[in-house]
Amino acid sequence: MSQFDTFFDYKHIWHPYSSMINPLPCYTVISAKGVYLKLKNGKNIIDGMSSWWSAIHGYNHPILNKALKKQIRKMSHVMFGGITHPPAIALCQNLISLTPEKLDCIFLSDSGSVAIEIAIKMLIQYWHSLGQKRKLFLTIRNGYHGDTFAAMSVSDPENSLHKIYNNLIPKNLFADAPISSFHKDWNASDIVSFKKIIEKNSSKIAGVILEPIVQGVGGMNFYHPTYLKKIKILCNYYSIPVIFDEIATGFGRTGKMFAFEHANVVPDILCLGKSITGGTITLAATLTSRHIANTISKSKSGCFMHGPTYMGNPLACAVANANIKILKTNQWKLQVLSIEKQLFKNLQPLINHPYVIDIRILGAIGVIECSHSVNMFLIQKFFVENGVWIRPFRKLIYIVPPYTISSHALKKLTNVIIDALNNIKLFL
Ligand SMILES: *Cc1c(COP(=O)(O)O)cnc(C)c1O
Repeated sequence: MSQFDTFFDYKHIWHPYSSMINPLPCYTVISAKGVYLKLKNGKNIIDGMSSWWSAIHGYNHPILNKALKKQIRKMSHVMFGGITHPPAIALCQNLISLTPEKLDCIFLSDSGSVAIEIAIKMLIQYWHSLGQKRKLFLTIRNGYHGDTFAAMSVSDPENSLHKIYNNLIPKNLFADAPISSFHKDWNASDIVSFKKIIEKNSSKIAGVILEPIVQGVGGMNFYHPTYLKKIKILCNYYSIPVIFDEIATGFGRTGKMFAFEHANVVPDILCLGKSITGGTITLAATLTSRHIANTISKSKSGCFMHGPTYMGNPLACAVANANIKILKTNQWKLQVLSIEKQLFKNLQPLINHPYVIDIRILGAIGVIECSHSVNMFLIQKFFVENGVWIRPFRKLIYIVPPYTISSHALKKLTNVIIDALNNIKLFL
């Protein structure tokens, strides 16, 4: 690994949400194990991000690696059109056993955004089968559902990075985001905006889509379970199907296997991704009720018109099965609970810090909302120099560590965050 390679990257390679002119520096990682990322200078840093909510059991996990090696000897890939294979069948059996009984039919795809595109296409086709041309979607502000076009159309229009495409993406309906937070009292006025919009447009709305309980990149807010319950009641009343986007929250992150379990409601469509393979390879799934699947299938063509080339990739399915096998030992519950406890102990007191507006903790998610936006260049450098990998955005410093993190390593993460807050130069 020479200096030239880093320079090549800087000159030629686009990174997420970055510019090709003077991009922020990238750190070269040469390997990863457990909760550590090894940098090219030999230094190990503690990962507080789980590679964007994905590597829930840490890196280089022996069980995940073994599953990949075992599968690669049989086949890495085979087309899913007209062909099926044991890893995909096992995965769909696993997903059905983990999710509520109502979710019965599974469409596998490559990434979270694509799983959302599929869910949206499904509902448009569902209404088409019923002889109605519905294409409007209702969602809530501060949401994030991905970077492809249909996903952009239901992500927050103001706050997202998608503003410049505004004239190109379908116009959808946005209700005010709930204010009542997860751990506080329910305020009945929260549902007013959603209720008004659904009442007024009920005959035009094809579906409601939202992230249950945790709004991720759109602001890292945790809202009250009663809000989700009320939404489900309204949707049931108007017979409008609901899509839950659990791409970030699924597989235990919030302390429940799925975040919707906090509210005891079940969606009509569920999108999963990110941690489904334990952070190993990209894979996503869209689960629907039998009713929706059958209605779509009763259309004139009888088919759902989608089919990614790498659909049901056997390597991805095999490692997802190993990931679920680890989850089924139920260790994750204790792990997430003890992370939550420690975050309350170590982060909650920061609420009195002059640069802190709010502290939010749920499961293995810790969020510090600051009074100032971070200086990305300086704070990223500060974190790496202090031995941790944390990637804040705007005024939000947050951690979503692997469930396997030791209390010692977690303490190090929160200590470095506290040091950063005491260093005003790291903020704008
Ligand atoms: C990351 C994310 C997506 C998009 O998933 P990709 O795999 O990045 O396409 C969609 N919804 C939510 C809630 C996410 O966190």
